[in-house]
Amino acid sequence: VQSPSSAPRAEALVDLAAVRHNIAVLRAAAPRAELMAVVKADGYGHGAVPVAEAALVAGASWLGVCTLEEAAELRGAGITAPLLSWLHLPDDDFTEAVATDVDLSVASRAHLAAVTAGARRAGRPARVHLKTDTGLSRGGAQPAAWDALLDDVEKAAADGHVEVVAVWSHLANADVPDHPSLEVQAARLTAAWEAACARGFTPIRHLANAAATLTRPDLHFDLVRPGIAVYGLDPLGRRPAGTPLRPAMTLRGRVALVKRVPAGEGVSYGHEWTTPCETTLALVPVGYADGVPRLLGGRLRVLLGGALRPVVGRVSMDQVVVDCEDGTDVREGDTAVFFGPGDHGEPTAQDWADELGTIHYEIVTGVHSRRVTRSYT
Ligand code: PLP
Repeated sequence: VQSPSSAPRAEALVDLAAVRHNIAVLRAAAPRAELMAVVKADGYGHGAVPVAEAALVAGASWLGVCTLEEAAELRGAGITAPLLSWLHLPDDDFTEAVATDVDLSVASRAHLAAVTAGARRAGRPARVHLKTDTGLSRGGAQPAAWDALLDDVEKAAADGHVEVVAVWSHLANADVPDHPSLEVQAARLTAAWEAACARGFTPIRHLANAAATLTRPDLHFDLVRPGIAVYGLDPLGRRPAGTPLRPAMTLRGRVALVKRVPAGEGVSYGHEWTTPCETTLALVPVGYADGVPRLLGGRLRVLLGGALRPVVGRVSMDQVVVDCEDGTDVREGDTAVFFGPGDHGEPTAQDWADELGTIHYEIVTGVHSRRVTRSYT
């Protein structure tokens, strides 16, 4: 969305050099595996197409998304790299996905039937990744249902409707690198893969997300699927300074109004904060509709006029109020940094997540409002 003023009101600035650097870090961590950059949820809030293009330039050879719509967006942008889409409804129409060479995850006989129907309509075989539930109990076929699924896959393959590309699964505890469930899941994946091989298929295997890519080389198999680390956020929740990754997103806004307010005035809805003395307040038009969690009210600081300053009172839908005390260094039009890589003392997405008791994934994917301008450097 274009802003009418020279610099945007609210902006998510995405550093594509950081994305390329992070891909290089991941490439070095998994030198023998193919690298699938996960760009679902609009590239974790960073913009799927620019991130995908940067990742491919930097050494990723696959892309991963959740939905068919996300896959179609990448294909529509002219991206021809191998692309896997993995979360579907049995009544999704797979015709376009098959026709545009999108690999499809298949987790049940009903999914297979729908994919086969799409392949018939597209007039070519669907490339499928058979998903086995190795212990997350989310997507994927249970071990007890695996043989029946393979029966149907064998038939669909014999009829020329599917080509089995991979057997794959997703980890439950990858952020705890020594968690005993990791070996259990890997062994179950291998058992499911061997069963597919015994039917004459020659699939690859993939299991590792970013955490396992960085910490468990024994679980890389043929391809790794990092997401969060592509964006420079450490999957184990370590501070940015403690990892080789570079956070890619900076969320910032511009000061719309600066004013002096006398002592004793309540600020923002509910008057949860009252000016302790005469002070300068700056209004920054970025609020919870733009990705600043309302629960951060009273705990949020922004980098403004060269200093970290507190956001006072509640976070509103469209704006926050910053206490600038004597106000000498703050002017209307100035930029306030909400979070970023932390290089200039600004808070990080990790700081926000820690403060809220959540994960940084939720912070960056929360920056998805159409009124936040995405810019790229
Ligand atoms: N693979 C699958 C199936 C996923 O759903 C995700 C994201 O949740 C990823 C890989 C990437 O995970 P992460 O962002 O933790 O690297």
